[in-house]
Amino acid sequence: MAQKIPDTDLELAPNEVPKGGAEAPKSGASTVAQRSVGDHAEIPIPSEARKGSTAIEVPASRSSISDASSLMHNLSIAPSMKDRRASRNSFGTSLPIPRSPRPSRLSLGPDAPGALRDILASQVQDLAKEKTKAAKNMAFAFDIDGVLLHGDKLIPQATRVMELLNGDNELGIKIPYILLTNGGGKTEVDRVDQISRILGHPISTQQFIQSHTPMQALSEYYETVLVVGGEGFKTRAAAEAYGFKNVVVPKDILAWDPSISPWRNFSEEERKQARPRDFDNMNFDAILVFADSRDYATDFQIIIDLLLSENGRLRTKAKDPTEKQMPIYFSQGDIIFTTDHKLPRMTQGLFRMAIEMMYKTLTGADLERVVYGKPELATYKYADEVMMSWMKEIHNEQVLPENIYMIGDNPASDIIGGNMYGWNTCLVRTGVFQGKDNDENSPANFGVFDNVLEAVQAAVRKELGTEFKFRWSENEKVKNALNGQGAAVE
Ligand SMILES: [Mg+2]
Repeated sequence: MAQKIPDTDLELAPNEVPKGGAEAPKSGASTVAQRSVGDHAEIPIPSEARKGSTAIEVPASRSSISDASSLMHNLSIAPSMKDRRASRNSFGTSLPIPRSPRPSRLSLGPDAPGALRDILASQVQDLAKEKTKAAKNMAFAFDIDGVLLHGDKLIPQATRVMELLNGDNELGIKIPYILLTNGGGKTEVDRVDQISRILGHPISTQQFIQSHTPMQALSEYYETVLVVGGEGFKTRAAAEAYGFKNVVVPKDILAWDPSISPWRNFSEEERKQARPRDFDNMNFDAILVFADSRDYATDFQIIIDLLLSENGRLRTKAKDPTEKQMPIYFSQGDIIFTTDHKLPRMTQGLFRMAIEMMYKTLTGADLERVVYGKPELATYKYADEVMMSWMKEIHNEQVLPENIYMIGDNPASDIIGGNMYGWNTCLVRTGVFQGKDNDENSPANFGVFDNVLEAVQAAVRKELGTEFKFRWSENEKVKNALNGQGAAVE
């Protein structure tokens, strides 16, 4: 595999002190290790040993200087490889990710293919051992929006990609792939259902990572969490599925005390679905932003209230809020995204920067925070875990393919992240990126393609040979078998 980021270390035991990055002073790591849960004086991430923990901690490696500050002084909103530091996360922190992918709650799984075709495929693969080996040693990670779909509309070439990778190829072999998106806001099961329907091919939750999927590991650390963003109450369901015991969404708080947010957006219908509780007697442990806020005014207010509170209790105010800052996590850092509007729209990264500026203005201190999602290292490490267990599922071999191709439409997340992690990167022109040549700041190292099918075919040719046939029916032996010259291959 191509070189990886130097500070990555998947072998960290859950109770091991995460290593700081190159910039970390020596005192950083031990400070983290001595901290106990709920005690988050400088660094919001508890990192102590846990019995039977299923979390891996991925170290972050950057100082806590707000990303917003650089953006305030120039109008560039396109972070690039050139000026990018190793990670955007708070210095000395770690990003816990689940040790192995969550158990599948939806067993769509691979198709159950016909027995005859199976026998034929295994014979074909036996005769082409090298090619078969190469096919199992490559894998794809697809961004979704702008690559396979536009919102809920299919990008036509995606259908053929699914067929090809699900076995309609010369070897009749499944080439592993996962979907890696910065989207989120609903459960994996719901989202995968929807994607499968649009693609017309079953996708398993076991090959799917959305922005907040790795945040599942945080349920080992925090009990009462404020979960922000997403449509209606869907993120509550997602957080509960991850195992968080006490999930509060801002609407629960509005139902308890509407005056907390003077400019709230809160309907009678929502009031009925909300779960107000006795928040005067409940301490919050952490804030998790899962998806885009649907009510910036209320979400800003409640997040800032909690960050300034005494021990995470609403309607209180700490004497020195910076002494013990509540941990706050963001599921991804994109600043703009494309919609059906003519110009790009603001998304979670700018929402976060606004909070950083509010916090800095009110306290004078930099907000310590952690960001997941592409291009953060934690998300790619988790992708490896998912890829490996998906290999086990489809080929019964728990190994990580060496030649991984990331296919994305956004140079600032898909391509930067893939390049930094040592993957092959392909930029497609069906989404955010529309340029003729490669992106100037974050060039895709495997090239630019008009669409996802062209990228996949180029990658397959690179790994399996230029003569590789993209359809099962084009295999000579298969043709003969199908033409009645016996089901078996000579
Ligand atoms: Mg995209």
